Amino acid sequence: MTYELGNRTAVVTGAASGMGAATAELLAASGVRVALLARRADRIAGLAEKIVADGGQAIAVATDVTDSAAVTSAADAVRRAYGRVDLVVNAAGVMLPNPIAAGREDEWQRMIDTNVTGALRVIRAFAGDLIDTAADGRTADLVNISSIGAHVTFPDYAVYGATKAALTHLSAGLRTEFGPRDVRVTNIEPGLTDTELGHHIDNPTLSRQLGGMFEALGGLSAAEIADLVAYAVSRPRHVNLRQLVVLPTRQA
Ligand code: NDP
Repeated sequence: MTYELGNRTAVVTGAASGMGAATAELLAASGVRVALLARRADRIAGLAEKIVADGGQAIAVATDVTDSAAVTSAADAVRRAYGRVDLVVNAAGVMLPNPIAAGREDEWQRMIDTNVTGALRVIRAFAGDLIDTAADGRTADLVNISSIGAHVTFPDYAVYGATKAALTHLSAGLRTEFGPRDVRVTNIEPGLTDTELGHHIDNPTLSRQLGGMFEALGGLSAAEIADLVAYAVSRPRHVNLRQLVVLPTRQA
C-alpha cells in the first residue's frame, strides 16, 4: 500500500537495510524524493538505482552518523540535490548486547554515538529545514525509530535499552521545541523485527537467544514498520501520532 505524499523530500538514515531501506522504498513509491544515508555506499547506491528504475526519485549519500562533519556535508549534498528537506527518519542504529561485567566500552560508545548522538547530529543538520517548512504552512516531520527496549528490560541489553530510552525521551523533549512550531515528532518503538540488527552480536549465547526469540514469537517485517512511518507522516499536519508501539502479537 502506498500513501499520498507527493512533493515531499525525505532523508532516511539507516537506509542500507532493514527498516530504513523499507521506509525509503515505501516513501519513494508514495511520491517522495528520498535521500538514502548509511555507511555502506554500495548498498544505498543499489537501492537508489532500484527506486529510480521503479519510477521514483532517490539519491545515495554515504554517511557515517558518528562523524559530525560527514553528517553536515551529507546535509549540504541533499539540499544541493533536492532543496529543503521536510521529512527526516532516524533509523540508523546498532544493537550490541553483552553482560555489563564484560566491560565492552567499545560497544557502549558505538551504541551511544550511533543511536543517540548520531540521531542528534542528523536532527541538528535538518532542524532548520523542518522549522522553515512548517513556517511556510507545509507538513514537516521528524520520525525517530526507538525500541520497545526503551521501556522493557532484557538481561545484557542494558546499554542498548538506555540508548533507546534516551532517544524516546529526546523525542518527547524535542516535541516541546518543535510542536509549537508545527513540526511533528513521531517516536516509534518496534518490538522484534526481522532485519540485520542482530547480525552484529558477537556473543554466541546472546545471538542464539535472539534467534530463539524470533522462532518462538515471530517477528514483524521491516515493511510493516515502513508502513507505520508512512501512515503517520501522511496524516493531516495538525495530527501527530506521537508515540507508536508496535510488537509481534506474541511478544509480551
Ligand atoms: P538494520 O541493522 O537492518 O539497520 C540498521 C541500519 O543502520 C543499517 O542500514 C546500517 O547501515 C545503519 N547504520 C548503522 N550504523 C550506522 C552509522 N554509524 N552511520 C550510518 N548508518 C548506520 O536494523 P533495523 O532495520 O532493525 O534497525 C533500524 C532501527 O530500528 C535501529 O535504530 C534499531 O535499533 C531499531 N529497532 C530494531 C528492532 C528490531 O527488532 N530489528 C526493534 C526495535 C528497534 P550501514 O551499516 O551501511 O551503516
